[in-house]
Amino acid sequence: AKSLAEADPELHEIIVKEEKRQRRGLEMIASENFCSRAVREANGTRLTDKYAEGYPGARYYGGNHFIDESERLCQKRALQAYRLNPEEWGVNVQPLSGSPANLAVYTALLQPHDRIMGLDLPHGGHLTHGYMTAKKRVSATSVFWESMPYHVSAETGRIDYDEMEKLASFFRPKLLICGASAYPREFEFQRFRKAADAVGALLMCDMAHIGGLVAAQEHTSPFDFCDVVTTTTHKTLRGPRSGIIFFRKGVRSVDAKTGKPIMWDLEERINSAVFPGLQGGPHEHTIAGVSTALREAMTPEFKAYAHQIKLNCRRMAEVLMAHGYDLVTGGTDNHLILVDLRSKNIDGARAERVLDRAGITVNKNSVPGDLRPFVPGGLRIGTPALTTRGLNEADFTKVAEFIHRAIVIALEFNKNPEVQKSLQKFYEQLDANMPEELRQLN
Ligand code: PLP
Repeated sequence: AKSLAEADPELHEIIVKEEKRQRRGLEMIASENFCSRAVREANGTRLTDKYAEGYPGARYYGGNHFIDESERLCQKRALQAYRLNPEEWGVNVQPLSGSPANLAVYTALLQPHDRIMGLDLPHGGHLTHGYMTAKKRVSATSVFWESMPYHVSAETGRIDYDEMEKLASFFRPKLLICGASAYPREFEFQRFRKAADAVGALLMCDMAHIGGLVAAQEHTSPFDFCDVVTTTTHKTLRGPRSGIIFFRKGVRSVDAKTGKPIMWDLEERINSAVFPGLQGGPHEHTIAGVSTALREAMTPEFKAYAHQIKLNCRRMAEVLMAHGYDLVTGGTDNHLILVDLRSKNIDGARAERVLDRAGITVNKNSVPGDLRPFVPGGLRIGTPALTTRGLNEADFTKVAEFIHRAIVIALEFNKNPEVQKSLQKFYEQLDANMPEELRQLN
């Protein structure tokens, strides 16, 4: 049998270049990480060859004896990693990624056009939390369900819990969603629970970003408050790209119209929404990789890793603030910071580009009050990937200095008329290439 290099040199060369880029650069995208060799091995096995529609013990194809064993192992580890009692909590490890996991939860719990409420995307929420603009239903989750967002406060950058409670009592969502893609602080899950209970809503946490921190008990657990918890497995949890849904086996709520109690069988609803509702054959090789990542997440080394992610992030925040940068919320409790560059005469798009040229990979991000998504005023910077590479606080002091130097150089260039001209061209190009629905943001 030929190796990849022999069978497909063209692709092999591209992959080698990407691996080199990952090794040489400073990877600081908050949603990325480097999974272990063991995880990659599990993910690259012959399990990819097997069809296994259905669930362990009840498949639509023969030959699944070992696949069942592997998927059951993943389920068991998922519950263990989050210290969940299997009498109370069930788990589905088949969602192909985070977005399909969320879609499966909505499909399971809601009728078409039922109401959902999540954090607005420009305020740090995820597309799949019902994102829409005034003119366009951007995410399918806002096409199939009616959505109304809550926000972060313009003054503090923190979730405006009072507004969220008010909006929930007015909109009466059937499902309230907490969790975010760009939020540097801990979530106050008890406030969400209170708001959900006040209107008889179910409460879901999408802990994709903080999944690894929760496993390591470095973030308050959403499991104490929520009915359903979804996660991706490839961010702080450091597994392969995939999704998991956790659900309480018996959930009571109150019918908003009749006031009668409802007992939800979430197990049946969620499992059948994933398969056969939305998916066919599960990616059993990925499930195997997730299994290994979960095993790793239960070790003392992982606990120390998750703690170090936060220490590193705090250090980076301190150094950047000492250089005069504004941070949304004035700091961080977790693995990421949001730098508000609006007072610095540079926008997030340009800063991202300059840092990219310096080998520092971050992403532009809107900050509260931003209007244009392709030229947002901030940067999202995360520490999980570089912490995996062994960087500590002293290293992050240097990394923050590098970031600062790159931005200072960009600002110097800014004064040069030639650079001004080419920047103008760059913005025109960005504007010309912007899809209509993003152009209409806000
Ligand atoms: N949920 C949150 C909070 C996320 O940040 C993301 C991805 O960034 C997702 C869901 C979606 O995950 P995926 O990209 O795997 O579909």
